[in-house]
Amino acid sequence: MQLFNCDHCGHPVYFDNVRCDNCGHSLGFDPERMLMLSLVAEEGGKWRSPASGKLFKYCANQTHDVCNWLIPMEKDSQYCMACELNRVIPNLTNPIYADRWRKIEQAKHRLVYALLKWGLPITGKFKDTDSGLIFDFKADDHLPEGERILTGHAMGVITLNIAEADDVEREMAKKQMDEVYRTVLGHFRHEVGHYYWEQLVLDSPWIDGFHLLFGDERQSYQACLDYYYRNGPQKDWGNSFISPYATMHPWEDWAETWAHYMHIVDTLETAYSFGLQVQPRRKKQGDWLSTHVEENAYTCKDFQTIISMWMPLSIAMNSMNRSMGARDLYPFVLSAPVVEKLSFIHRVIHGVKDLQ
Ligand SMILES: [Zn+2]
Ligand SMILES: [Zn+2]
Ligand SMILES: [Zn+2]
Repeated sequence: MQLFNCDHCGHPVYFDNVRCDNCGHSLGFDPERMLMLSLVAEEGGKWRSPASGKLFKYCANQTHDVCNWLIPMEKDSQYCMACELNRVIPNLTNPIYADRWRKIEQAKHRLVYALLKWGLPITGKFKDTDSGLIFDFKADDHLPEGERILTGHAMGVITLNIAEADDVEREMAKKQMDEVYRTVLGHFRHEVGHYYWEQLVLDSPWIDGFHLLFGDERQSYQACLDYYYRNGPQKDWGNSFISPYATMHPWEDWAETWAHYMHIVDTLETAYSFGLQVQPRRKKQGDWLSTHVEENAYTCKDFQTIISMWMPLSIAMNSMNRSMGARDLYPFVLSAPVVEKLSFIHRVIHGVKDLQ
């Protein structure tokens, strides 16, 4: 995520801010130009951006404190391009659910930010029923005994069980599933990976490369799922997969690896925004632990540059967290086959077909 500044006073502001802590101006995010704008209220719910001279309205979800994105005044839509992807939202008369929705939207807006950065197609199912994307955020209420809402993706519909936005519930699920990392943002990145596999890989020239690296997805998903939950992952999964779950089926390997590509690129953009540099004061054994994050990973076309910035940075970040008694920020090991899969995803996202 890039570092934003209030364009009135220059103070650093977060992506989710609706107000500048320094000068008090209202703020909104303009997704068309990826800018944080300071705003002056005008009559009739209009907001003027003095920097651009343009008139905007806030997304209707701003009233629920879940969105700070702006819509050009001339557009009919009530919702911004991130919120118009919602089909089902939680029952807001329940304050616990409203709070969960806030956390969910924070993560979803970050997801959409990344998709915009890459210029990937983002069309809601309301506009394109066949290949559009839509989100359902559901609670377990009113389900028959023993049934639960399953987080997942099916034909452009991403369903999230809103319990995932509850820290205690999520930690319990994480422990039960024996996972090292589980976040709402991680769920979104994984599920949207399934969606873009259908959009970018299936029925495309990338499919042969996919089969070579990830395997043949035409094997029965249900049989693989049953086998995985009966027997667990293969013992040596760390040699060629990013996580145990990635061993389940080629689709899951793709989605898990895709999510990691998103983790890495967004974290590197943050490091780039802050001008981070890692240069260990230790006896030199090769310089692979040093890096200066001088390129924005969202636009960097060379995957090797991305990975050579990531390795030292992730080790430094893990060391910082350990100093605070916290868990590793990036509790994963990237084996050579995983790096190759990440590189493939990088090429698919950037459409670098000549390197296939
Ligand atoms: Zn300000
Ligand atoms: Zn919105
Ligand atoms: Zn999945």
